Amino acid sequence: MRLVLLGAPGSGKGTQASRLKKELDVPHISTGDLLRAAVAAGTPLGRKAKAVMDAGQLVSDDIMLGMLEERLSQSDARNGFILDGYPRNLAQVEALDGLLQRLKQPLDAVVKLDVPAEEIVGRCEIRFKAEGRADDNPEVVRKRLTVYAEQTAPVADWYQRHGMLKVVDGVGELDTVFQRILAVLPGDRVAANG
Ligand code: AMP
Repeated sequence: MRLVLLGAPGSGKGTQASRLKKELDVPHISTGDLLRAAVAAGTPLGRKAKAVMDAGQLVSDDIMLGMLEERLSQSDARNGFILDGYPRNLAQVEALDGLLQRLKQPLDAVVKLDVPAEEIVGRCEIRFKAEGRADDNPEVVRKRLTVYAEQTAPVADWYQRHGMLKVVDGVGELDTVFQRILAVLPGDRVAANG
């Protein structure tokens, strides 16, 4: 299963992806996590990305594509993946499309978690208190939501126009949302995973 999870910051992509990876037996590839690991390791890329992330802006498309290409070339991604946090603008949609065509691994599904903006702000505040992620502070969250509306919302529209988008209500118990996601995934999932 090759799946893209879309949704605003705090919409629950990461939480749902952790569960989905067990269900689908494919890796969860979060570009945000890859960047945070580079920041924590203090690599040149991480040092460059940190200021951009702390400001709630997007890291450059070239860096992101290189990072994604490297991750997808690892053997655990051969049988599929759950992509979380990519693509985040229309240039990345094209880049991903080109990359997956080259790898002969087309997407099976694109799922967007739909959560109202008021709830997003509250969830990020809770996460900020619990995890202390610098970019979850309310000021940066507002910036990230603006970036999302301007650059990432068109990504969902693109997949919608191409008949690939499934929108799932992301409000509710974790398990309820999880079941909603499973319900919109292509049917051969069950057969492939017993
Ligand atoms: P996330 O954990 O997905 O919310 O990502 C945290 C931050 O990492 C974002 O606010 C961006 O600064 C950066 N980031 C993650 N994924 C991407 C991407 N696909 N393109 C550009 N920047 C990204």
